[in-house]
Amino acid sequence: MNSFFKVDDVITAASKKAMEVSSASFARIDEVRAYNQEKVLAAFVKNSVNESHFTESTGYGYGDRGRDVLDQVLADCVGSEDSLIRHSLTCGTHTLGVALFGLLRPGDIMLCVTGTPYDTIHGVIGITGSGMGSLKDYGVTYKQVDLLPDGTVDYEGIEKALNEKIAMVYIQRSRGYSLRPSLGVADIEKIAKTVREKSDAVIMVDNCYGEFVEKTEPVSHGADIIAGSLIKNPGGGIAKCGGYIAGRADLVEKCSYRMTVPGLGREVGPSLGQSRGMFMGLFNAPHIVGEALKTAVFAASLFEELGFEATPKSNEARVDIIQALKLCNSDTLVAFCQGMQKGAPIDSNVCPEPWDMPGYDSKVIMSAGAFTGGSSIELSSDAPLREPYAVWMQGSMNFDSGKIGVMLAAQEIYKRGLIK
Ligand SMILES: *Cc1c(COP(=O)(O)O)cnc(C)c1O
Repeated sequence: MNSFFKVDDVITAASKKAMEVSSASFARIDEVRAYNQEKVLAAFVKNSVNESHFTESTGYGYGDRGRDVLDQVLADCVGSEDSLIRHSLTCGTHTLGVALFGLLRPGDIMLCVTGTPYDTIHGVIGITGSGMGSLKDYGVTYKQVDLLPDGTVDYEGIEKALNEKIAMVYIQRSRGYSLRPSLGVADIEKIAKTVREKSDAVIMVDNCYGEFVEKTEPVSHGADIIAGSLIKNPGGGIAKCGGYIAGRADLVEKCSYRMTVPGLGREVGPSLGQSRGMFMGLFNAPHIVGEALKTAVFAASLFEELGFEATPKSNEARVDIIQALKLCNSDTLVAFCQGMQKGAPIDSNVCPEPWDMPGYDSKVIMSAGAFTGGSSIELSSDAPLREPYAVWMQGSMNFDSGKIGVMLAAQEIYKRGLIK
């Protein structure tokens, strides 16, 4: 670090060591990034993307070429038949909800095979809340196969749970705020094979945080449909909001009728000037994901160096951009988030405090300093103040800046005498 920020020699030395330890992982990240960038560029070339596709449509948005070409570009990037990518999908939860409601019908059973899904999906399914028009309110039954005690997939349990009434098998790729390992495309392929031996249920993957981390996406490994958020990986930090659904053409069409309304589907929806940012974000996504992955690897290496446990470990292969660090107690979690906030490009002057967040049974502290509200492809961290006292961090569109954020988090912990 130069003279713009101050850290103690202990942190500087540990960071130097962390960079050395990270080099093999960085080389792997570079290799995947280059492959994915070539794939994305080829999709732009194949679909002859040109400046006229950035033109704004209003009102109904009939015949918006940019919108329709972008759907095909994304489909080519993820290896699917078709896709919908829209700024009007307000967040990841909304996008996943559109796909679930688009594909499931009264009497169907949805089987989640990766334990309890991400918190915000509970309301969509009807695990929590009532009277809001959840899947449960519409007569869709929810079942789940728990993960094994070590957090891995229970393949035998899946085989036992499958029957002809199961219309959808649902897989969550990323760990969310748990310490289970995230699933790679190889794990998803194994689940899909297990399912296909007994069932032709639709296989859907919550692909949040996984896009462009590996060379292929779940649709190339047996998934029928995937969905995710544009303020995470595939928006490249440039899309201002939105989500995407990609997969088999017949399923994407069904989702389009829930995205707008039966009969109209994808024919309506003005781009309102958002197309350029979505094209540009998607184009840059492989690079941006590489920066986020390097920040995660560096954080794991640095905190291992300082005596903490990281999961995944610094040298482990990665399947999403999430990095969890076990920091042992509340004081250390608070110091981490407050330190990281000091290195945020936006809102560095505010000091995050733990608060009672709706839906959590303990206080939560977060750091975020993003150009886009709530964006988690930008450097951010979240920590519920409870066992196992772990912080989940993700992002940075820019490794050099992300590295400083991580170092300032470590510095704050050191300054408060919380490193042994
Ligand atoms: C982010 C995320 C979602 C969707 O969350 P939003 O905040 O609504 O975008 C769903 N599942 C997983 C695993 C996620 O990481």
